[in-house]
Amino acid sequence: QIGLHSLSKHYGIHTVLDRIDLEVSSGEVLAIIGPSGSGKSTLLRCINYLEQPSGGTITVGSTTINAAQLVSRAELSSLRRRVGMVFQSFNLFPHMSVLRNVSLAQERVLGRSRAEADERSMQLLSRVGLAEKAGQFPGRCSGGQQQRIAIARALALDPEVMLFDEPTSALDPELGLEVLAVMRELATSGMTMVVVTHEMGFAENVSDTVMIMADGQIVEKGPSTEVMRNPQHERTRRFLRAVH
Ligand code: ATP
Ligand code: MG
Repeated sequence: QIGLHSLSKHYGIHTVLDRIDLEVSSGEVLAIIGPSGSGKSTLLRCINYLEQPSGGTITVGSTTINAAQLVSRAELSSLRRRVGMVFQSFNLFPHMSVLRNVSLAQERVLGRSRAEADERSMQLLSRVGLAEKAGQFPGRCSGGQQQRIAIARALALDPEVMLFDEPTSALDPELGLEVLAVMRELATSGMTMVVVTHEMGFAENVSDTVMIMADGQIVEKGPSTEVMRNPQHERTRRFLRAVH
């Protein structure tokens, strides 16, 4: 479903991603962990081309983009439409209702009518447990609620893949749990997910696969329980000791 081949990103002489090869299959939940500055966010941002890679190819579903070639607008929007993204900061529109936050892009990007978009939005708000917030402004919602709205908004475009960049790290632990519960439900439903996280419980118990990054490279990757309980590489052991 996702394929990265020799994906690289340089900033000047600084190599942030060093020829990453990665496959994520349909329905797989991949957790990415690793020290600060190891390139985790850059990797996610390259997958949906928020960041232009310096080299390599990115495949999502039937769309393949080669970083060495000029990318057309059509290719970009085809890629972005397949990939939903949720950030640490929720980035909701403060002057629009919760419902409007979720429905707007459906009209603009998918051409749904207002009624269709609102109906789909209400389904998704129910799914994340927030139907009763539809008419409010995001500012009246807690951080955990805002993040769940952001997840509903991303799901509203019917993505094939969801990317999460530390979705709970700006939240109090208790509010983080609400968000993790929604992500667990999404994982169970079969969504293909790539999740950069500091939540070792999520990595071990929810994700299928765990990947450790350091210095722009994949140190280790494997079934989550094996990697978390019996890491093979010293770099992984050092990282897990530091976070536990
Ligand atoms: P964290 O856990 O702190 O979020 P990360 O693993 O997500 O870290 P990235 O944000 O991907 O790390 O950054 C990787 C490296 O790339 C860092 O050294 C960072 O300074 C560098 N970097 C990121 N964005 C830029 C940029 N726009 N210009 C120059 N260097 C950048
Ligand atoms: Mg990051």
